[in-house]
Amino acid sequence: MATSSASEGCGGLDAASAALGLRGYRRQPPPGLLARTQDRTPFASFTATSWAAPLLAGVAPGQGGAHTVRWSVRTSRPFSVPVAIPPSAQRVLSAVWRGRRPYGAALEEVTTALARSGLKDKDLRYVVTASPEDIGRPMAALRQLGVPPDDFAVNGTLAGAPRRMRPALGPLLAIEFPVGPPCSAGCTPGCRCGRYLLLAYLHFRTDGDPGRKRAQTPHLFEAVVLESAVLCAVHGIRDPYALPGFAPLTEYLRTLMPPHEREGLRAQRVRLLADRVFTSALLLGVGASPGPRGPAHVMRRLLRQAACELELTGSPPAELGRLVHHADRLVRVPLGFQPLAAADLQTVHREAAAFQRVLADGYPRLALALRRDGTPEERARTLLWLRSVHGVPVSMAMSWCRDRELDVSLTHFAAAELADRERAAPASMSGTAGPPAPEEAGPRLL
Ligand SMILES: [Zn+2]
Repeated sequence: MATSSASEGCGGLDAASAALGLRGYRRQPPPGLLARTQDRTPFASFTATSWAAPLLAGVAPGQGGAHTVRWSVRTSRPFSVPVAIPPSAQRVLSAVWRGRRPYGAALEEVTTALARSGLKDKDLRYVVTASPEDIGRPMAALRQLGVPPDDFAVNGTLAGAPRRMRPALGPLLAIEFPVGPPCSAGCTPGCRCGRYLLLAYLHFRTDGDPGRKRAQTPHLFEAVVLESAVLCAVHGIRDPYALPGFAPLTEYLRTLMPPHEREGLRAQRVRLLADRVFTSALLLGVGASPGPRGPAHVMRRLLRQAACELELTGSPPAELGRLVHHADRLVRVPLGFQPLAAADLQTVHREAAAFQRVLADGYPRLALALRRDGTPEERARTLLWLRSVHGVPVSMAMSWCRDRELDVSLTHFAAAELADRERAAPASMSGTAGPPAPEEAGPRLL
């Protein structure tokens, strides 16, 4: 479990967190990494519906606030890790205020907290999303705080915002930080070209109790501040795996990459490996182990994605144990955690061996199927079958196809996957068991 000593004292959010403490938000110990059972994702994620519930449980019904710094795990990106994508596991400063909290006061508290992390007010940008009847107040608050008109934008939606922070329930604000040049003349806050690091989401619930007239003032304020983006902003970079905390691991991973590979692909592999092995080490540390369902399936998927990437670089998947050990020693332990037990690393070795058996079994199956499958569309369906039934990662099967100079594109694969889902949809709509949620599926791994 992420102990309180491991969740405190490693920079970034801790100064910000202390600043909220000075404004009346009571500090709470971080809740555990395992999600509450009703959540779709098995680990606590800042996007989950019940993320703020442990904080709210500690606040009196009348008025008051609470804050904590806790780990969030969010794993859902199958194929690649682009430069500015947040890591699967990161710390999040989480704060709630129950009762009236004026927009200006709440905004000023969060920007003061960010200033304590090392970010100046003048470098922050804002995106506001709200219903027409709500939009005026947060805009007025930004103007009163002295935010210039060019530094905020109004957007219809905010990609990536937790679904519980719906603008229909009250105004939602994102705080961003630009790194690098604009993509075009129209590159304003909210542009998703990769320039704007998303530091925080702030949500003001104004909808009141069901059946009551819409409240004029917020009755619940919630903020999440994402440590990875804050640290990237402080260092003026967009790649979280280039941050000092990750650098020893990424430098080690770079030594494993084939020298002939082009730089872009090599960097992408390093990011994916760093992300998967660090997240695996973190989850092993809270007692997760690989298996077919729920948290165990997330664990298995992360480990196998890393093992697959190793195989694609020409390193044997058996190296996986060493990588997880390095992720533990170079990143996780410096955060204050106890080193992983030898039994945890044995678990990784067993999983790597099981994955090697999947590959050894999958290759002849693919070879046999390819003897009869002619078109790229048919091959894409074979890849889908290999993944769904036999657990062979798509990127691995594609690599085997390329070795045989057979064309299968991600577009063909995506079309085959969509058709498969549409075939499965009527069953789930009629109330019978549909396809399992991605995090709970059996052999479907990558
Ligand atoms: Zn842009």
